[in-house]
Amino acid sequence: MADTADMANTADAADTDPRMLAFARTAVEVGVNLQPGQVLHVQAPFEAAAFVRLIAKAAYGTGGRLVDVDLRDERLSRIRYEMAPADALAEYPPWRAETMRQLGEREAAFLNVMASDPDLLRGVDPERVAAAEYAAMSAMERVGHMARIAGMRNVWCVVSVPTPAWAAKVFPDEAEPARTAHLWDCILQAARVDGPDPVAAWKRHLAELEARAARLNALRLAAVHFRGPGTDLTVDLVDGHLWASGPARTPGGVAFVPNMPTEEVFTAPARSGARGVVRSTRPVPVRGVTVRDLELTFADGRVVGATASTGGEALLGLLRTDDGAIRLGELALAPDDSPVAQLGALFYNPLFDENAACHLALGRAYPVCVEGGADLDEDALTARGVNTSLVHLDFMVGSSRVDVDGLSAAGDVTPLMRGGCWAFSV
Ligand code: ZN
Ligand code: ZN
Repeated sequence: MADTADMANTADAADTDPRMLAFARTAVEVGVNLQPGQVLHVQAPFEAAAFVRLIAKAAYGTGGRLVDVDLRDERLSRIRYEMAPADALAEYPPWRAETMRQLGEREAAFLNVMASDPDLLRGVDPERVAAAEYAAMSAMERVGHMARIAGMRNVWCVVSVPTPAWAAKVFPDEAEPARTAHLWDCILQAARVDGPDPVAAWKRHLAELEARAARLNALRLAAVHFRGPGTDLTVDLVDGHLWASGPARTPGGVAFVPNMPTEEVFTAPARSGARGVVRSTRPVPVRGVTVRDLELTFADGRVVGATASTGGEALLGLLRTDDGAIRLGELALAPDDSPVAQLGALFYNPLFDENAACHLALGRAYPVCVEGGADLDEDALTARGVNTSLVHLDFMVGSSRVDVDGLSAAGDVTPLMRGGCWAFSV
């Protein structure tokens, strides 16, 4: 009964609040930048059905050919993790993978509405979850979907809408329907769609991000140094690295925005070039487990020491995925004074938490972060010093107490961030 009532609340809000229509339009027109005649594939939790209807209206309104929707119930995934035969968890349904292959080849746009219950997997055997996730990622890799997404060959965008379970985790002291409404307010503010002209606001924001990326590219840095409480880490950058930011472009030149919100400017670390120690400044969700007080020690690019006060087992499981899982694949700078950072909440959702602070990621790098990277296969990327892996785990390392410097090959130091905020203007 509670679920039906909660769902009704979500549906009512999305049907009547003009801000949500503006959000749906912005996701379609700026996020995936849907082109006339294009297919839009939407993956969303069933609780987001009302919002997905707004997406469909916005998509057909801009000339979309088909809005193909995959509404999911993540509690069904939990039932499978708990009850399916162990060997079956290592099998991803090939017909589902085939769907993604065909959508990719049809040049479809992919919109992912991410709104997981952060506690969904509490108490589930992490090995069983890992087996199922590994199978899913391997299947997506086999059909070329991972390469299409990572290489920006198809347009894609990730947004979030509240679900009752997620809102309960973020605002445990509030009751429904207030806490779902509160989470909506946060999402709309973070996604910069709470003003009178969101599309214009996004154009200004994307221009600033691109200017910051251009400035960082002009510096031709050899390494980046993070310094703060518990952190003294130097990360070498790949030769020929590129700083990228919110706006992305397909090889055919279609501009899109993979994450809404997006505040980060990011690049590719050298897979053998991290040394020192880093302390995460926020809890890190790993497969439904919250890893707290994470500290990693790096030598020659590899994790050689890992400690956490909780969730250590889940983290170690992830580190064992493959050789790339113990190396860095992303270095991202994001300021402390953005709308999402100003919310000050912990969202248990990487889309919000990682855009609120500087972060690093273990695992797969983005090929667009290296010159000519979109055309390189895994072996060629590795040869260039770019990390590859089946996993990509972001963890936050920035705060108002962390400074970041850029280091040139000659040893010149350029302040990049001071007190958590950009140290250079554009
Ligand atoms: Zn990032
Ligand atoms: Zn990342």
